Amino acid sequence: MSTDNGNTQLADSAIPERAMTKTGASIEPKPPKCVLCINAHPDDQEFTVGGTLAKWARGGTEIITVVITSGDAGSNERTEMTMTKTRLAELREVEQRNASALLGVRETIFLHYGDGTLQPTIDLRRDLTRLIRKYKPDAVVCGDPTVRFYGNSYMNHPDHRAAGDAACDAVFPSAGTRFIFPELLAEGYEPHEVHRVFLHGSEKNDAWVDISETLEIKCRALKQHVTQLGDWDPLERMKEWAADEGKEKGLPAAEAFRVMILKEETAQAEEERKKQEEYAEAEL
Ligand SMILES: [Zn+2]
Repeated sequence: MSTDNGNTQLADSAIPERAMTKTGASIEPKPPKCVLCINAHPDDQEFTVGGTLAKWARGGTEIITVVITSGDAGSNERTEMTMTKTRLAELREVEQRNASALLGVRETIFLHYGDGTLQPTIDLRRDLTRLIRKYKPDAVVCGDPTVRFYGNSYMNHPDHRAAGDAACDAVFPSAGTRFIFPELLAEGYEPHEVHRVFLHGSEKNDAWVDISETLEIKCRALKQHVTQLGDWDPLERMKEWAADEGKEKGLPAAEAFRVMILKEETAQAEEERKKQEEYAEAEL
């Protein structure tokens, strides 16, 4: 039986080949060897991808965290009137380093851009390109810059959109193209091609990471952000989010991503996928 059902009017769910392919596509993505995780603020990483990073780190993935601002705008609710921006930035950097350590992150880098007024400038893109060329990650994790509104109660923070935009633009085309930012060549940073981009906070998820085993570590990491969380225990809320993200795939706790595959990793990975498809056809 051919997998080409171009002439049929049946829904995908009625076509076994398509259903099987979809099952295959939902298999958890292979952990990267090295990840650059880029976010706007201290705590963004823990809220969004903490469970995935903790899981990957325990499996041997090398993780570098990049925090573009130091969160020195904080939140009115949690920031005391006597606090200064400089002091808050210092505190939040310590909190982020503690959180990263719990997740298993190897290095945490702060770029010290201003919190609350971040723009996807060429300077920011160059700074991120430099880091991609320096650490040569096979995957970059960042927020989906295209999401403006979540539901009807949260407008995505402009810093999150700017960070995602600059990160994606640094991955492609800047990091891999020799003559974009020739000044980086002069600094000794040769082009590097990132294979995959894991976008969190997307509305078009196509990959799910089961975080049942690392949800608790994610919460412990999150609690390091004392200036933001106070004594609030995020466990119940994080369980709800993880259950919600995993629901579509029948996972009790997950973090979901849209994954851009810019370059196939290895011939072996392709081989595995083919086997999966052959198996699906043989089952019919
Ligand atoms: Zn944020």
